[in-house]
Amino acid sequence: MAMIQVEELRKNYGSFRALQGISFTVDRGEILGFLGPNGAGKTTTMKILTGFLNPSGGRAVVAGHDILENSVEVRRLLGYLPEHTPLYEDLSVEGYLRYCGRLRRMSGSRLSDRIRAVIGLTDLGPKSRALIKTLSKGYRQRVGIAQALLHEPEIIILDEPTVGLDPNQVMDVRQLIRDVGRDRTVILCSHILSEVEAVCGRVLIVHQGRIVANGAPATLTSELNRGATCEVVAACAPERLQGELSAVGGVTSVEPRSFEEGRAAVRVRADRDGSELAAELARALSQQSIPLLRLAPERATLEDVFRSLTRDTGRK
Ligand code: ATP
Repeated sequence: MAMIQVEELRKNYGSFRALQGISFTVDRGEILGFLGPNGAGKTTTMKILTGFLNPSGGRAVVAGHDILENSVEVRRLLGYLPEHTPLYEDLSVEGYLRYCGRLRRMSGSRLSDRIRAVIGLTDLGPKSRALIKTLSKGYRQRVGIAQALLHEPEIIILDEPTVGLDPNQVMDVRQLIRDVGRDRTVILCSHILSEVEAVCGRVLIVHQGRIVANGAPATLTSELNRGATCEVVAACAPERLQGELSAVGGVTSVEPRSFEEGRAAVRVRADRDGSELAAELARALSQQSIPLLRLAPERATLEDVFRSLTRDTGRK
């Protein structure tokens, strides 16, 4: 059974159509990456799923509960780290988590045990008695993650969870997400595409209020990896390099990249096998006595997929 089922969800802000009918499902044990350029509709979707906003149309069912008909139960099942966590500055970390727990109707030893557990998971131990107003950005972010996990929710929605963390903490939080995602359902909104590629089994890309891609990162990149791509750097004028390489069999495009200190760099795409392409390009340049400085086959990344699907930013 899908833990989250979204059907034709729409949201209008006045006459502006922020969500134009999006549908997707997420299963238990899945970590779904939710991507899109600024203004795509990610936060709007998350706010609808977490009950902060009502949709203008369509429906969403969370663990079998319709978000509109049974919003209290839906909130109980969800943990949410919003883009900006509202933290109470004058409370200590522990005091704030206790407050969040009470809001969630937790008490007694269960609450104390869970506070201890999430403080451990997010490495907040040394700061547990510190006032929130004295914490650095990274520690505040960890408090936000701790409150999202406090009530052991089935579904966890994390909006940019590693923003403001140092590289060591980023690694720790990614591992935490992987661990949590093993037996729960996680939606991870992030602009850090390498993070999404490293953590998520499946990715949704939203653009201008519609879903433009839905699949495993490797599946999405494989489309762009059909054929071959090489970066070529040679000591000659860019026009000449472009001319010589365009004439090689199978080459479909030669994009200029840079020209510095007599070195031209281009990206060559071709509809042929990658190793053959590299050999042909090298041969073509050597025949013309053009010094070849670098020849590197390239693989498309999630970033290339994202850019190719969301380049049109005309709507805001
Ligand atoms: P970001 O990556 O910048 O956080 P996002 O994908 O989360 O972007 P949303 O915050 O969901 O985008 O916004 C989607 C669109 O709806 C944007 O064009 C935004 O300007 C618009 N929007 C969001 N909230 C409101 C509002 N309360 N009133 C009017 N327009 C809004």
